Amino acid sequence: MFDRAVEVTPGGVNSPVRAFHSVGGSPRFMVRGSGPRLWDADGHEYVDLVSSWGPMINGHAHPDVVGAVREAATDGLSFGTPGAGEIDLAQEIIDRVEPVQQVRLVNSGTEATMSSVRLARAFTGRRKVLKFAGCYHGHVDSLLAGAGSGLATLGLPSTPGVTGAQAADTIVVPYNDLDAVRGAFAEHGEDIACVITEAAAGNMGAVAPQPGFNAGLREITRDSGALLIMDEVMTGFRVSRAGWFGVDGVAGDLYTFGKVMSGGLPAAAFGGRADVMELLAPSGPVYQAGTLAGNPVAVAAGLANLRAADADAYAALDRNSLRLGDLLTGALTEQGVPHQLSRAGNMLSVFFSAEPVHDFEQAQQQQTWRFPGFFHELLARGVYPPPSAFECWFVNAAMDDAAFETIENALPHAARAAAAATPPPEA
Ligand code: PLP
Repeated sequence: MFDRAVEVTPGGVNSPVRAFHSVGGSPRFMVRGSGPRLWDADGHEYVDLVSSWGPMINGHAHPDVVGAVREAATDGLSFGTPGAGEIDLAQEIIDRVEPVQQVRLVNSGTEATMSSVRLARAFTGRRKVLKFAGCYHGHVDSLLAGAGSGLATLGLPSTPGVTGAQAADTIVVPYNDLDAVRGAFAEHGEDIACVITEAAAGNMGAVAPQPGFNAGLREITRDSGALLIMDEVMTGFRVSRAGWFGVDGVAGDLYTFGKVMSGGLPAAAFGGRADVMELLAPSGPVYQAGTLAGNPVAVAAGLANLRAADADAYAALDRNSLRLGDLLTGALTEQGVPHQLSRAGNMLSVFFSAEPVHDFEQAQQQQTWRFPGFFHELLARGVYPPPSAFECWFVNAAMDDAAFETIENALPHAARAAAAATPPPEA
């Protein structure tokens, strides 16, 4: 399958990290998912620790979500008109995240961040955007500089195809460094339209904001008349009912969402202060649109996923994250592998590093050469972790004792491989 895929698609995949480039080998083609498990085209079974990079918090093929999709699809796939489900999904988001007063639905997290930045520029009449090294906000031209996720995995500082002008309007500073933010504002404050940050970073691995960091961003942006965009595409509705806002209570002006609120179909959203959102066409002059935006089937899936994510589900996510973290730490400690179990709420990742990680530079200093062997030992024993040392591990609420038993049995082998790994000659 991969040989065929490589013929018809660049690199054989439709999103780079899926290609296994940084771990070697060829990607597994998944054909079925149920609860915490996936099955590949060769019939192998895996405990899934990626959860479709976040959306499947309730596990795969959750009956409520599948039922809602089936019902919506039976009534027609797309109308290109407003629909009742769109109101319900917007209302569910507004009810969960207090600073969000209005919502616009889009098809991907990338669209959500791209549109939010456009809106922030229009609202403030300024051009520059401040972002943090290692944060990923989708493949928006102006936001690819110093980005995490696939660019971190592939070691790319930026990408060809982005013009100098687009790059020049982006200021990149280290994550968790308020002094650097103050410095940028001292120099460019009158030109900065917005600060965009992952509410808690998940695309350089899980790196939580240090106490006071998000609050500091709130204060600096408010003082200078810039907007604060909280990118909760990853954290939203995962780390709590209200996303990271439910964890630290720091209010952004605009929010971006995706993943969990999509139920696994292509849907995302941005929202925030009504006085800002009302600048969007047709109530205002800022143009933004989508043929399939608010698609009835995607909306039904997202709404069902959110409704299934009740207090019990969040308790299970937190419990499963702690249990997985303990198993990871236990196995790696047993083998004497230097590592940090890094957490941002119930998102977690492993850095093969002796020092705690608070920013991208520290994340990049980890011993990434320990990761491929670690990864492949897990994979060979029926555990599917993210195929990159820079991505979060995503638990889901459906994980059961049997799933943890599989992980527990696989981990000693993986930890031994990590311990036995040797650095490449140039490292
Ligand atoms: N923002 C964050 C924080 C993300 O993690 C992602 C994707 O991983 C995006 C934006 C982009 O979302 P999408 O992949 O749906 O375009």
